[in-house]
Amino acid sequence: MGLLNFKRTIGQETAKGILSKLTNNKATLMFYGPPGVGKATLALEFAQSLVCSSEEKPCGECYGCKAFGNLKSPDLLIISDIKPQPGKPRPDEFYNIEGDLTIKISQIRELQAELSKSPFEFKRRVVIIMNIENANLESQNALLKVLEEGSKDTIFILISSKPTFVLPTIRSRAIKVRFSPLSPSDFSRVIGFYDEVLYKISEGSPGIAKSLLQMGEDLKISLDIWERVIFGDISALNRGLEMFGKWKGLFLRIGYFKVSEFYLYSGDMSSFRRLLYALKDVEVGFRRNTREELLYLSALWNHPFSVI
Ligand SMILES: [Zn+2]
Repeated sequence: MGLLNFKRTIGQETAKGILSKLTNNKATLMFYGPPGVGKATLALEFAQSLVCSSEEKPCGECYGCKAFGNLKSPDLLIISDIKPQPGKPRPDEFYNIEGDLTIKISQIRELQAELSKSPFEFKRRVVIIMNIENANLESQNALLKVLEEGSKDTIFILISSKPTFVLPTIRSRAIKVRFSPLSPSDFSRVIGFYDEVLYKISEGSPGIAKSLLQMGEDLKISLDIWERVIFGDISALNRGLEMFGKWKGLFLRIGYFKVSEFYLYSGDMSSFRRLLYALKDVEVGFRRNTREELLYLSALWNHPFSVI
């Protein structure tokens, strides 16, 4: 089988250990853990290792490694909630952690049709299903059937950052491979530098950190807005709600970070509780995404907090 060495995935030694011991020709694996910590990267590296012709796998250079690495082989099937149709997402789409579309039943049906054929160019075939929690019940049931039927020489990799949204009947069929937040030093290796605030806001996820960095100036502005909100300047939040529609999830994440930091340093439980409830309200407001809701929340927020 040769030596497995997953160089592109930083950290995740437990996950790598499980994969190194796997010798089955057909298996269902479930990669779960926080978003942006290397699940998709390792899935692709593992897929490459199954078709790699070098002694140390995946080498990244041989025909198999390149065909899979460029997402160009018919023996690598990717079902994703990022691109609505099955087929071949671009590599940069493959690594997008913010997939939030639905995996459609038609995608699962097309997969099923593909699997009835034999692998085309390699002896093994790999099916990667991204963000499987975004498949509705109907799609998940269809997928369960596909997994039950199995397919010769096919490895399924199900990827999820919310495994509790995946049918227990699917979960129980899979070999579970857990992914964890990265240590500060591994995190720095991926990002290229270390920043404590960035590490804490992203909770050790380089994928989330990269999204935060894409915010540019807006990251600083968000931090500043939450700082002011915590210290009672409600009008700052109104500005935030207007500005950060584009970065909703990240703006809230920054809010949760600032509020926890506030509690950590002040120990003020009653203000902390109030801030947490308010954060929840903002979250609901963002989800409903209605102007009225936001105005209502802003009105609620006009009651000053007795902070410090
Ligand atoms: Zn190779």
